[in-house]
Amino acid sequence: MRLDLLAIAAHPDDVELTCGGTLIKMAQRGYKTGVLDLTGGEMGTRGTPETRAKESALAAKRMGVKWRDVLGVPDSDVQPSREHKLRLAAVIRELRPRTVILPYWEARHPDHYHASTLGYEGCFLAGLKQAPISGEAYRPFKILYSTAFVMELRPTFVVDISEQYEKRRKAILAYGSQFRPAKNEKKSKVYLAIDELENRMNLLARHYGQMIDVPYGEPFLVRELMKVDDVVDLEVRSI
Ligand SMILES: [Zn+2]
Repeated sequence: MRLDLLAIAAHPDDVELTCGGTLIKMAQRGYKTGVLDLTGGEMGTRGTPETRAKESALAAKRMGVKWRDVLGVPDSDVQPSREHKLRLAAVIRELRPRTVILPYWEARHPDHYHASTLGYEGCFLAGLKQAPISGEAYRPFKILYSTAFVMELRPTFVVDISEQYEKRRKAILAYGSQFRPAKNEKKSKVYLAIDELENRMNLLARHYGQMIDVPYGEPFLVRELMKVDDVVDLEVRSI
């Protein structure tokens, strides 16, 4: 299978919360999209790994992605090690995505910033002919960094996800085990329980949407400059 767009993140539900609307929108445009979760989220306080696997498959279906898999890196120990980079590079060679979405390279959670480095270096390694990996050398053309978790950062651009917002919500709600803790469960010690996180991500989507004059948006950063051909047809009002 060959993909147009592949989102790589540390834990199942990271992608839904940070760029789910964009994945849905691109699938609706006819692009083949995919998600690679580096870990199975096995360190999560709630839900068994089996439950989480079922939930992430349901979320994938709701986002219309054609391919989703787990790389098998240990949760809470994501490292850009040679072994993980080679495994990731093999996936890149197999899927040949034109565009890859990675988490932004600075984050509170070490898994998130390590996922960014591991993702970038895996993509780079995939293009080295001499790398000890099967398949034809290939490097994605474009890397987008999802900055939804990094409020203090000014993104390069924002994707209008207003029409995809409800679908994104349903994809996030697929992670039922992460919501509504059982009555006998002690008060959650998770830094941000997903229900609180979902609420926060919705506020963020509203915030970024407002920055481009639409109801909801998802922010991204690219290292390169954006190229423009038509300065008369630019969107988003200045005054
Ligand atoms: Zn995460």
